[in-house]
Amino acid sequence: MTKLGSGSLVIATHNSGKLKEISALLEPYGLKCISAGSLGLPEPEETGTTFAENALIKARASAEASGLPALADDSGLSVESLGGRPGVYTADWAERQHFEGKPGRDWYMAMGKVEGMLQELGPDTARGAAFHCVLAIAWPNGEHAVYEGKCTGSLTWPPRGELGFGYDPVFVPTGAKQTFAEIDPADKHAISHRADAFAKLVAEQFGG
Ligand code: IMP
Repeated sequence: MTKLGSGSLVIATHNSGKLKEISALLEPYGLKCISAGSLGLPEPEETGTTFAENALIKARASAEASGLPALADDSGLSVESLGGRPGVYTADWAERQHFEGKPGRDWYMAMGKVEGMLQELGPDTARGAAFHCVLAIAWPNGEHAVYEGKCTGSLTWPPRGELGFGYDPVFVPTGAKQTFAEIDPADKHAISHRADAFAKLVAEQFGG
């Protein structure tokens, strides 16, 4: 099986925040991280029905176009009582044509949609949910590796906390009382779905 060496790795994202976060985690292992955006690589359509499919679509597109190994991630929230939704559509549920006058994402609306669906199912509906993060590495020779991270918890209403992003204000991780948006970000990063996926990647690619 091909493994990551100490050369260049394309991070299949056009988001500079993600590039920074992923580079900080991988550069200690001798990798030079370059974003797909800075190489002018196209962003493929995420047509998969699972986080793993979408992460692989992105990683493969960057590996094929650049001739370098590429890493992509895909993440989102799945709610047990909603059959795993919003799942791969987590970001889409926040999509608004005209949010504050321009197209954009409205996370309060997205959290409200999840809550509305739970309430419609009745007061005894289970509120278990999990954040998922899948990391996919694709090599130009066609090989690939996939690492799945998960953080379980339950959904609360109304939203609480100013820290974090996305659905953090309604997500209470298992064993905690505060939401992800009330917890110190360093504490969130220690237990998050992303931390779980990265730990699995590092263990297999770099031996721990
Ligand atoms: P993507 O992986 O960039 O496609 O993001 C999927 C969406 O999942 C994000 O836009 C967020 O709404 C949601 N999401 C992923 N991770 C988190 C998290 O740690 N907290 C809150 N929302 C998250």
